[in-house]
Amino acid sequence: MESNAQTATLRLTEVFLSLQGETSRAGLPTVFVRLAGCPLRCRWCDTPYSFQGGETVPLASLLARVADYGVPTVCVTGGEPLAQKNCLPLLAALCDAGYSVSLETSGALDVSLVDARVSRIVDIKPPGSGEDARNRWENLAHLTPHDEIKFVLADHADYDWAREVVREQKLAQVCPILFSPVQGELPPAHLADWILADRLPVRMQVQLHKVLWGNTPGK
Ligand code: SF4
Repeated sequence: MESNAQTATLRLTEVFLSLQGETSRAGLPTVFVRLAGCPLRCRWCDTPYSFQGGETVPLASLLARVADYGVPTVCVTGGEPLAQKNCLPLLAALCDAGYSVSLETSGALDVSLVDARVSRIVDIKPPGSGEDARNRWENLAHLTPHDEIKFVLADHADYDWAREVVREQKLAQVCPILFSPVQGELPPAHLADWILADRLPVRMQVQLHKVLWGNTPGK
């Protein structure tokens, strides 16, 4: 059976070691497992190379490739990793192997079946992404303080929208909230000023890996 962890395969874009660029884990050496494929097309997507293709790899050999790096922190990302059903056994197997595991997901798919040991980093897509109709609002009921919610914002209209979502949904009571500017579109200092003016209980972040290396695949 394909979903059996012994025989499962995944479609993989890349595995690499880098510094985590986002979330409360920013700055930590992390092994990234980037799964291929995504059903969304965010206007500002920075990983379109993950949409197509990818190498088909057995779950067991993927675990071995992660282990080769000798790093205790792993991030499963994409693309949209949950678009592959074998992402769930992969996440469980990584947790079983003792890693500290995070999952970056678009927020468009069901996160409720993800292993509870995984820190789920769930996007809420604002209108500027062009994919706000895909937000799966039911996900919010499944999140815990162990998870994080991320908004990537292109302009002031996106910021206003996100601020109202934070307030109306009382997100600060759910888990940490991340606000990021779209690189090259929204100057980070503008976003910082808006957050401060509103006393908004969110964590502003810029993508550390892009500060260090630009928009380079595998970094
Ligand atoms: S969900 Fe992520 S990978 Fe998919 S199009 Fe949007 S930004 Fe790109």
